[in-house]
Amino acid sequence: MQNQRLFNEIDQLQTEMVDTLMALIRLPAIGPENGGDGENQKAEKLIQILQDAGFDKIERYDAEDSRASSGKRPNIIAYCRGETDAKRFWIVTHLDVVPPGEEQMWTMSKPFEPQLKDNRVYGRGAEDNGQSLVASLFAVKAIKRLGLKPKRTVALAFVADEEQGSTWGVQHLIGKGLFKKDDLIVVPDGGGSDGGFIEVAEKSVLWFKICTFGKQVHASLPNTGLNAHRVGMQVALALDKMLHEKYPLKDEQFDVPWSTFEPTKKEKNVDAVNIIPGEDTVYFDCRILPRYNVDEVLSQIKRVTAEFEKETGAKITLELLQKQAAPETNDGNSHVAILLKKALWEARGLDAGVGGIGGGTCAAFFRKAGIPAVVWSTVDEVAHQPNEYSKVENMVNDAKVFAALVMS
Ligand SMILES: [Zn+2]
Repeated sequence: MQNQRLFNEIDQLQTEMVDTLMALIRLPAIGPENGGDGENQKAEKLIQILQDAGFDKIERYDAEDSRASSGKRPNIIAYCRGETDAKRFWIVTHLDVVPPGEEQMWTMSKPFEPQLKDNRVYGRGAEDNGQSLVASLFAVKAIKRLGLKPKRTVALAFVADEEQGSTWGVQHLIGKGLFKKDDLIVVPDGGGSDGGFIEVAEKSVLWFKICTFGKQVHASLPNTGLNAHRVGMQVALALDKMLHEKYPLKDEQFDVPWSTFEPTKKEKNVDAVNIIPGEDTVYFDCRILPRYNVDEVLSQIKRVTAEFEKETGAKITLELLQKQAAPETNDGNSHVAILLKKALWEARGLDAGVGGIGGGTCAAFFRKAGIPAVVWSTVDEVAHQPNEYSKVENMVNDAKVFAALVMS
């Protein structure tokens, strides 16, 4: 009964939810590593919205970062007091977004000028992580508007720096001792298009950059130089082959059941066709099943680069950009997973499954701290793509699930 009233209230708020999502998309929150100025402007807008929504308390935990013009990376916590404060319900979403990529690929909207078309909001950050951010906010807003009080205090955390390792984001908050072992933590930053999948485990993440240095010369005299591009490609291919051969095991509990090792970004080299490149840079994104030791994987990578150095005379450096080892244990029967399963059944009639994904969400840091966080949301998985969108229906339905969840 009470939940039905909440669901109706959330339906009433649909237009406001769309407007809020669009207002937030208009404020690009790109991290300094990706050429942006951080999340401060967006955070300030969000604080206004939170104040209007009737939260009991709003706190800021800024992490200092001189690379942002504000000098800080904002983390916001908005509280809705419950009958008890002993075991808090957290919903953690992130403020930052990835860069738009090639602008001409955006045909439905400009990246930061959102458009509502066919009940979808298009724009960078619409799905990742705007949809869930707004859904969690309006779940609490609906609770407040009906004058209800949840059993446990609800804390919404809006964090910085998720896309580049969370140093100034959730790790900063964990360092402040804000989370307790038996708190209930939901990270709605991943999931499937039907909302029927709860992620309780993730893979380890390993990102690295390989730079190869040879000798730049005229292309007609390659014998006088050392083609770094050729060596760089050979190294990348050798790594690709070695990693797939050495770490082939499958684990069906994960979506993509095997480890992935992908050469991704490639840095631009020379400007002319007739120059032998003296430098080559390639990046890898690896998502590794928890059964494998990441340090062991890393030592195999170093072995390959060292071999190529010896063979070719090129200098090859390896720079680690991210290394997050996932804990091997996962708990599909944690309290929060059970409550979320129940809320999904109640709000949406969904019998949800539990398992693992490719990883790299804030949940990894909670799990490492021994708190069994779950990742769940209803998304078409268009994050990081051009024409990223959020289905309005998903945003509204997920808000209902959050409302039912925190009232349970
Ligand atoms: Zn995200």
